Amino acid sequence: MQSLAVLVAVILFLMDGLRACLPYVTRDAWDAHPPKLVEKFTGPIPYVIIHHSYQPAACYDEKECQKAMQIMQRMHQQDRGWNDIGYSFAVGGDGRIYQGRGFNVIGAHAPRYNDKSVGICLIGDWRFDLPSKKMINAVHSLIEYGVYNNIIASNYTLIGHRQTRPTDCPGDRLYKEIQDWPHYSPLQDVVDPNSIPT
Ligand SMILES: [Zn+2]
Repeated sequence: MQSLAVLVAVILFLMDGLRACLPYVTRDAWDAHPPKLVEKFTGPIPYVIIHHSYQPAACYDEKECQKAMQIMQRMHQQDRGWNDIGYSFAVGGDGRIYQGRGFNVIGAHAPRYNDKSVGICLIGDWRFDLPSKKMINAVHSLIEYGVYNNIIASNYTLIGHRQTRPTDCPGDRLYKEIQDWPHYSPLQDVVDPNSIPT
């Protein structure tokens, strides 16, 4: 019984370490503009949706990735008139997790799923190339962090953007890759984009 208690303590300690080690970049750190509006939804979140940015291209250091975040926010917030960058989070080639809208904030990345998903964008064009191991590990760490903290449902469903609407996203190569990830579902929920209000 005592050894079980020790084992639990060790596991909790390691999980705390995981949380502390999450390579996380706040909005302030990438110099985000404030959102025009923040609309929340309650969790735990049932879906994780994977994207690629296509453009901007992959970034490889902190400075380039901060710039990529700023470009995406400008595209979404100014050019498209959305409240903020569309994604919940983005992962850079530097292996860091950049906060977009964050958890439990309604996103603008997958119609009909924006109020029940975490949208994670792997910055770059992943039609032919695979993101680095570092990037993929960062995505898994973020999902594990969400599940551990009961922010993401433990029985969550993971899908690619193209499973919700006609799009190449997250790119053929990355889409093939995520089919081997835990909780991937072959769910197909694509509808005519003309019938989607936003
Ligand atoms: Zn997408």
